[in-house]
Amino acid sequence: MSETKVALVTGANKGIGYEIAAGLGALGYRVGVGARDRVRLDTAVEKLRAAGADAFGVPLDVTGDRSVTDAADLFEREAGRLDVLVNNAGISGPPTGSGWEQDPTLLDLDVVRAVVETNVIGVFRVTNAMLPLLRRSPSPRIVNASSSVGSLTWQTDPGIDVGPIMAAYSPTKSFLNAVTVHYARQFAGTNILINAACPGLVATDFNGNFGSRTPVEGAATAIRLATLPDGGPTGSFFNDDGVIPW
Ligand code: NAP
Repeated sequence: MSETKVALVTGANKGIGYEIAAGLGALGYRVGVGARDRVRLDTAVEKLRAAGADAFGVPLDVTGDRSVTDAADLFEREAGRLDVLVNNAGISGPPTGSGWEQDPTLLDLDVVRAVVETNVIGVFRVTNAMLPLLRRSPSPRIVNASSSVGSLTWQTDPGIDVGPIMAAYSPTKSFLNAVTVHYARQFAGTNILINAACPGLVATDFNGNFGSRTPVEGAATAIRLATLPDGGPTGSFFNDDGVIPW
């Protein structure tokens, strides 16, 4: 089996996911670039290769059963195993008014369903499809792209500014955090480490490029968790400063 470690980053055609792929590529990982749009995928792969990364394209819509099983089949053929899975793809859903806010009393339930489908069900779908490949790695790592807005401790602390109410998006990250804990429990006693990462407030298309951090900075915690040594933490939630309370 090749010594080169292999990674898959979902939603890697732009933003933080692209920089996670670039960062892992710079560390010598062979990187599967997951993206749902063929043109955006090819453009990102070309750019990563031009920067020296060993990147290949993985057409992948995390909301599609067939798309995800096809991606696992492609990975099987391309690499035969997976060392790192970064579940980065995510959406916020539209606001209920003119600003950022998603007022829970006004939300269209189809929006709630769509955000849960991508941010949570998509993580189950991709993780479970990739698990047979991950189990072939000597040190599998899974990183779930979460957010501090998913911290119920911080959401309920009146001393912390957690920004506007985003009642479709934020609960999906709390849900994802809980899912991360349960996968970690299931993986107890194995070599698989799974953690949730908050990138901070990063300027990307996700938030209309509002944010004080760059995508490279936002990628750092995910890259650290993707490259944890054996015996490292699992079932936890981190940002650049350390552990975030649930
Ligand atoms: P972004 O620039 O909007 O990128 C999101 C990525 O996810 C894009 O590649 C997008 O693909 C992809 N995606 C969305 N739905 C998908 C689907 N169904 N299947 C496959 N890919 C899909 O956002 P970002 O800021 O980099 O966010 C990345 C992650 O970080 C998200 O999970 C987000 O919740 C989290 N996060 C971001 C911030 C922040 O401040 N930016 C803060 C906390 C957490 P398309 O190009 O095809 O749309």
